[in-house]
Amino acid sequence: MNRRNIIKTTMALVAGGSVFETFATTSLRPNSLDTSLRIREVTTKVRPDIRKLKARLLANENPYGPSPKARLAMMENVRFGNRYGHGEAGDLISALAKLEGVDEKCILLGPGSSDLLEKTAIVKFRKGGEIVMADPSYMSLVNTAKYFGAEIRPVPLTSGYAHDLKAMRASLGSKTKLVYVCNPNNPTGSITDAGELKSFCREVAEQVPIFVDEAYIEFIENGRASSMVSLIHEGKDVIISRTFSKIHGMAGLRIGYIIAQPQAIEEITALSRPNMGMNVAALKAAIASIADEEFQKMSRDKNQACKEYLYEQLEAMGITYIPSSTSFVMFPLAIDGEQYLKDMFAHGVGVRLFDFDGAPWSRVSLGTMKEMKLFVQTLKSVLA
Ligand code: PLP
Repeated sequence: MNRRNIIKTTMALVAGGSVFETFATTSLRPNSLDTSLRIREVTTKVRPDIRKLKARLLANENPYGPSPKARLAMMENVRFGNRYGHGEAGDLISALAKLEGVDEKCILLGPGSSDLLEKTAIVKFRKGGEIVMADPSYMSLVNTAKYFGAEIRPVPLTSGYAHDLKAMRASLGSKTKLVYVCNPNNPTGSITDAGELKSFCREVAEQVPIFVDEAYIEFIENGRASSMVSLIHEGKDVIISRTFSKIHGMAGLRIGYIIAQPQAIEEITALSRPNMGMNVAALKAAIASIADEEFQKMSRDKNQACKEYLYEQLEAMGITYIPSSTSFVMFPLAIDGEQYLKDMFAHGVGVRLFDFDGAPWSRVSLGTMKEMKLFVQTLKSVLA
């Protein structure tokens, strides 16, 4: 297409609003690769350009970030883009070790926690084995394990949407290589009691390592108290993942980390060179963001205010929801799910749709208050 045609096509798209008119079909997307799971994502075949959404509530992004201090650090360090970031990675590891109260040998950085979830799966499952997980839960690590031939042992969440730790323990077999726990859980937003999870980890880690994905833990007031990091001091074989994508609002800058026993870190670093996937400016931004507690508090407080507003509005509409400890809320739909998704997109509101136990459910991220008001207004018109 030549330049003039590109301009003409773009103008036609904008004029006709057709960016949101291409949702003729929807399909089940492999949120899981395993049909035996309780949940499957339903998505449109033609996805909208999410940058054009009026309310971008589909990827659990933090609408306020990066923090002002992180932005400044990034701008000041763009000029070092010609350099590898090994020194800066070392500085970030030191800052995180101090923050988490662990030895630097217990920390591994990655370009987002996804990278570390996947690398852990490769290391643990390259020769197959079984993985015990809650159902539904976050599928990133599990899907990579499945790719390498792992068998999934899904354990339904309890009726209160917590991990069924007793049933998970009972699911362990001689071939289990890892237990995956996401707390708070995605896509339900629900939390499992930290004390019970700690006891579970203490006992189970004697037999098999446990991966605890804490991507959303900082959204809980005093979230660190609910973390499993203290088990690292006890020498337990747990791997805890965290990310700068959520509370720090740096999803596009790609920094995450795991905290684990040094031996587990070495096992993963043997697979690929550490620190090669990140850039100097993003590493500097992460260091600055850790120090910007004011920004993190603001993110948490605004997230909470939007959550309370959303709960109120859903209740007024007679819609139930799963109480959330995260930056998103999951609720069941009383209308056709696929039509709902198309209609929401057509209004410029991006959300996610799941087939959960055979019924349509939606997951909406908590954006700005303006976005939440638009979501509520659109939901009302779509349900009318
Ligand atoms: N873990 C959970 C539970 C998530 O919801 C996400 C992203 O949404 C991730 C991990 C991966 O995040 P990132 O790769 O941006 O760190």
